[in-house]
Amino acid sequence: MPLRINAARLLSDLTHLSQIGAGQDGALWRVAGTKADRAGRDWLDKTMRVEGLHTRYDETGNVFSRREDTTGPWLLIGSHADTVPAGGHLDGAYGVIAAMEVLRTLHEADHPLADHVETVAWFDEEGVRPESAGGLVGSTALAGSAHVDDLVGYLEIHVEQGRRMEEGGLDLAPVTGIVGVRRYRVAVSGQENHAGTTMWADRQDAGRVAARVVAGLKDVILAVDPKGIGNAGVIGFGPGAANVVPGTASAELEVRASSDTALDDIETALEADLSRIAAEENCAAELVRVSAKPAAHFDRRVLGVVDEACRGRGRTDHLLSYAGHDASVISTRLPTAMMFVPSTGGFSHSHKEHTPDGQLVLGAQALLDAVLKAAPMLLARPGSSVALAA
Ligand SMILES: [Zn+2]
Repeated sequence: MPLRINAARLLSDLTHLSQIGAGQDGALWRVAGTKADRAGRDWLDKTMRVEGLHTRYDETGNVFSRREDTTGPWLLIGSHADTVPAGGHLDGAYGVIAAMEVLRTLHEADHPLADHVETVAWFDEEGVRPESAGGLVGSTALAGSAHVDDLVGYLEIHVEQGRRMEEGGLDLAPVTGIVGVRRYRVAVSGQENHAGTTMWADRQDAGRVAARVVAGLKDVILAVDPKGIGNAGVIGFGPGAANVVPGTASAELEVRASSDTALDDIETALEADLSRIAAEENCAAELVRVSAKPAAHFDRRVLGVVDEACRGRGRTDHLLSYAGHDASVISTRLPTAMMFVPSTGGFSHSHKEHTPDGQLVLGAQALLDAVLKAAPMLLARPGSSVALAA
């Protein structure tokens, strides 16, 4: 008999965790480091402290669980336990609960792989606190710790947080990688002047430069990479009066693409676009790269196993993740892959986050299937003495 997860326990654990830090509308307030976040992680810790399982906090605040008295190596599975302010009940939490369910299923069946699976609830993925520097705190700490040497790989299941799966009628999606993200500041200087008496040809209108660059962002990105995406979330004109031609202007841009090469090409195109527009408007302008997160490409072999597991359980297609995840950090140290389940209506970071129960159960089962295939493959390293009769 193939191993089956306990669907009722999966869903009731998810419901229980959804009540910790919940507001009246069901939105969750488990921002990393808050009392509610700690209560959530304590509940996960307590829930996994059943006979034969061992749980522990590391010094960062990640919560791990595995079988007692095992010596590894382990395949790590999990997701993050924190939420954004007024977040949803599935972002992160679903992957944590699904991973716990997989380990408990293996443990209860006394499966040989139960000794080689560890679960994690990451601390502070979202990066809401000022001191958390963009998030992925727990996974970054693990990637730099000695424990990473005890691990053979990492698998994470997550809600899609977009509409691609629902629109495509997909149940499950192996994730090929995570986009790289770069942020830029555009700074333009022109000449303030009277908005009535300065004719068009005489203007050095910094505002027009910023506005034209913002308006052109989409076309610049799509010309380089049809799958690239971007955003201009901030724009400002100085001095900021209706009757003064702006002498200064600034904007903040963000670009996401599937590879660092594509990001380089988009950056070059943006620089060219900005200098062309600045010259046309008689202004000076510069594009300053403020931050860069590299793109992550998941391990081909692990992705192959995840693909097989997903295809065995429902309608699937490969997707690229446009949101950041702990898996991107861990993929720099361990063979890593992810899978998605659909997000109804594409809502995430909102109390409207929803995935039908059937698809939540299917996803956790596919995660178990993937673990059963990935763990023997990853543990079978040259010189490894781990015996794994399935
Ligand atoms: Zn998440």
